[in-house]
Amino acid sequence: MAAAYDPNNIFGKILRGEIPSHKVYEDDIAFAFMDIMPRAEGHVLVIPKEGARGLLDVAPQTLGELMKRVQHVAKAIQTAFSADGLTLHQFNESAGGQVIYHLHFHLLPRWDGVALRP
Ligand code: ADP
Repeated sequence: MAAAYDPNNIFGKILRGEIPSHKVYEDDIAFAFMDIMPRAEGHVLVIPKEGARGLLDVAPQTLGELMKRVQHVAKAIQTAFSADGLTLHQFNESAGGQVIYHLHFHLLPRWDGVALRP
């Protein structure tokens, strides 16, 4: 079973304005900002304002609303960066590749023949 949500994580601090971010979208449910180490041009992270550690513990209603924001931001960055496609990544727990324990979706614009950066 996953550990409890700890609000003292980097994304919790970004939500509270304690550390800076390059915001691209915000409403009462979600916050989206540029990834500091982008794996593609236009790499954006979308997070819920709800303190959820990962996919398994976020409230289902929040998840539904959050995914509407993911789609909205995905359309915006696909247009803004003239992408040919988009990759969505979401990691859970260290075994699943998660490093920061606040639920987040990686939105990665993609272009034909262009690999993600390592
Ligand atoms: P991974 O590092 O394996 O992608 P996560 O899914 O937990 O694991 O992703 C954390 C992401 O947060 C990374 O892409 C990292 O570049 C990004 N990141 C870390 N600190 C910041 C920050 N202060 N502002 C924006 N993005 C950040």
